[in-house]
Amino acid sequence: MWPLGAHRNGQGALVVGGVDVRDAARDFGTPLFLLDEADFRARAAGFRVAYDPGRTDIYYAAKAFLCTTVARWAVEEGLGIDVASGGELAVAVVAGVPGGRLLLHGNNKSRGEIRRALESGVGRIVVDAPAEVDRIAEVARDMGVRASVLVRVTVGVEAHTHEFIATAHEDQKFGLSLASGAAYDVIVRIAGMDVLDFRGLHSHIGSQIFDAAGFEVAAMRLVGLMGELHAEGIEVAELNLGGGMGIAYVSDDDPLEAGAMAKAIESIVDEACARAHLPVPRLAFEPGRAIVGPSAITVYEVGTVKPVELDHGHQRVYVSVDGGMSDNIRTALYDADYTVTLASRVSTAAPMLCRVVGKHCESGDVVVRDAWLPGDLREGDLLAVAATGAYCRSMASQYNYLPRPAVVAARDGNCTVMLRRETEEDLLALDPGAAV
Ligand SMILES: *Cc1c(COP(=O)(O)O)cnc(C)c1O
Repeated sequence: MWPLGAHRNGQGALVVGGVDVRDAARDFGTPLFLLDEADFRARAAGFRVAYDPGRTDIYYAAKAFLCTTVARWAVEEGLGIDVASGGELAVAVVAGVPGGRLLLHGNNKSRGEIRRALESGVGRIVVDAPAEVDRIAEVARDMGVRASVLVRVTVGVEAHTHEFIATAHEDQKFGLSLASGAAYDVIVRIAGMDVLDFRGLHSHIGSQIFDAAGFEVAAMRLVGLMGELHAEGIEVAELNLGGGMGIAYVSDDDPLEAGAMAKAIESIVDEACARAHLPVPRLAFEPGRAIVGPSAITVYEVGTVKPVELDHGHQRVYVSVDGGMSDNIRTALYDADYTVTLASRVSTAAPMLCRVVGKHCESGDVVVRDAWLPGDLREGDLLAVAATGAYCRSMASQYNYLPRPAVVAARDGNCTVMLRRETEEDLLALDPGAAV
């Protein structure tokens, strides 16, 4: 759960990337995202070596967490970047990510976003709807370029943890249906257009996936579609199976590690293609959470500690921290589990049942639903929540006008600001009425 090499120092304080969390909290304020650079790079490189680079491309899914620094790290570790909006594209471009290493997603790409992506030399655009074929073609024709596209296919698989549904309903906004033939029809149309270069198929089956079973069904169905297209003389050069690889948030979580997942999926595709007498396509994956999730922790300062009587003489202690749903919406949104620890010291006090909550005006503002923390927990203590690198800062809001936390990289005992902490001046700067 914790970044590689995280440990307690002689004073009992948690150390991440060689940095004592007490020092980081003092220097950068709380809440704070402390991100271990070595951990991020190791996980990115881990994906790079798990899959055969001769046949597989790895794109880091920007939406999990993006700033120019992580974009550069991802590229340095041999990855591309998958972006899903003009804003994410802008960050990647400013970071100097080569256009060819970019892939553009989205179920509602504007003409402006498509144009900017093509201007940056984007490697792939993933077509998500019939109307988008014409939109991309129009922009590309206007610019005098050819656009390389994948087609996002809804394969009817929905995966999460160790479970998957093979008959998921297709009543969703993403992609083109395999079952109804919508994907097939769009691909045939694209293949007949000079301005578009049909490269292959894309699917993304879920998130926080712990094993290869769902990917297996998705891959088999896509290879089935490859066979139908082959019969029409249309070749599928690439199969992008998306992201969704899971991580451990709590000690019971047991995701398959990247190498084992890679071997399982590569052999599924090989065997399916061999059976269907099809050439094996190039593969691509788009992990986000599995790269950045475990790299970062959130450091909070404890404020109010309040016991609440439950039935049967039990007690729950509400521990309020100085952030909450504005820096971590996942607990409220997905009922997500997290691991939390007292980070500024060690304590031998008997543990008490706690609920770590934020400071927002919302009773659902919970960070960690159930946690055992030392009975002497008090105002001013620092708590650390593990595995908050993905979908926390990137989904952060300024609800209640709380400035969004900084993200600081820790490496060999040194800190570098990746995103500075917002200030109240930043928030007021949006309000012309505030200028007096
Ligand atoms: C969200 C998403 C990803 C990344 O998902 P993770 O669960 O972070 O690995 C990859 N590809 C697509 C299309 C996505 O929507």
